[in-house]
Amino acid sequence: MTPVLRDSHNRVIRDLRISVTDRCNYRCFYCMPKEAMEWRPRAEILSYEEIIRLAEVFVSFGIDKLRVTGGEPMIRRDVEGLVARLASLPGVGDLAMTTNAHFLADRARGLKEAGLRRITISLDSLTPDRFALMTGRSDLPRVMAGIDAAVEAGLFPVKVNCVVIRGINDDQAPDFAAMAREKGLHVRFIEFMPLDNGKVWRREMVVSGEELRERIASVYPLERVAAESPAETARRWCFADGAPGEVGFINPVTQPFCGHCSRIRLTADGMIRTCLFSTVEHDIKSLLRAGASRDDLVSFILATIAKKEERHHINDRDFVQPLRTMSCIGG
Ligand code: SAM
Ligand code: SF4
Repeated sequence: MTPVLRDSHNRVIRDLRISVTDRCNYRCFYCMPKEAMEWRPRAEILSYEEIIRLAEVFVSFGIDKLRVTGGEPMIRRDVEGLVARLASLPGVGDLAMTTNAHFLADRARGLKEAGLRRITISLDSLTPDRFALMTGRSDLPRVMAGIDAAVEAGLFPVKVNCVVIRGINDDQAPDFAAMAREKGLHVRFIEFMPLDNGKVWRREMVVSGEELRERIASVYPLERVAAESPAETARRWCFADGAPGEVGFINPVTQPFCGHCSRIRLTADGMIRTCLFSTVEHDIKSLLRAGASRDDLVSFILATIAKKEERHHINDRDFVQPLRTMSCIGG
């Protein structure tokens, strides 16, 4: 029987996000500040060997979905090599990556060949001026080329993550839906979360997924797609006229989905995080580097999972933003 990792709120943990670097070549203002970021020293970052050792233990306990993320995962040397090793772990059912796609156009095929199943590309605007405003870079054509290359390489379904911020890119939601239809993409609109390093988050900047869905549906009528699993974060909709692609809404602020959360995270510097909004981290790197046995690692992981928070507190008056932000945690 496949083992099951269960937390103390009876949630089954099946999904591990592995951050391979805290560094990034973009400066999305909702994630990193424009000023110089202080990167973790290289010696503190887990080696691929260490990542594989931990991933093997997680997978042996029933984690069957792995996602490689960052920072920007494609700036770490030979991430394809890591993907290939993760793909060959027995028990991995799904292997995905989240990337800004800056380096994807000529590497999508190689990633697919290495064993990557799916890819999620972050793209917040379809116009060069606003893309630059949001990312601090002027690379929209590169990202679009990356999307096309991912489709061509068969990294299906190619998902596009769009963080929506009121007054900045919310008017482009129907244009994103048009792109989903044209290219057969799964576009997912994400509510802006208080996980930004620059501390610019304000509730008024959040556009609810429901508001966006209504706006899109007034242009392209939508039909609900049934969730494949209760742990699915996006509420998904396809086009009523049968056009390819779909839109989804990830609403952590207005419709929290903590009750079905199946995720944990391993940061680039070797900390387990049991929630995006955790205010504590669990240092598995020190244990690993002190020569821990497999049994030691298993005990640590089981004890850590048991501490997974019941829910986030974004909507509580006493909410405290975690010290480490999205690019360090691994979104
Ligand atoms: N650099 C890669 C990328 O951008 O796709 C991977 C890491 S990034 C931290 C992962 C995802 O987190 C991206 O889709 C990004 O848009 C999202 N993200 C970052 N900060 C966020 C915030 N404050 N609220 C909501 N989503 C955020
Ligand atoms: Fe970099 Fe991704 Fe954060 Fe943008 S969202 S700054 S691409 S880590």
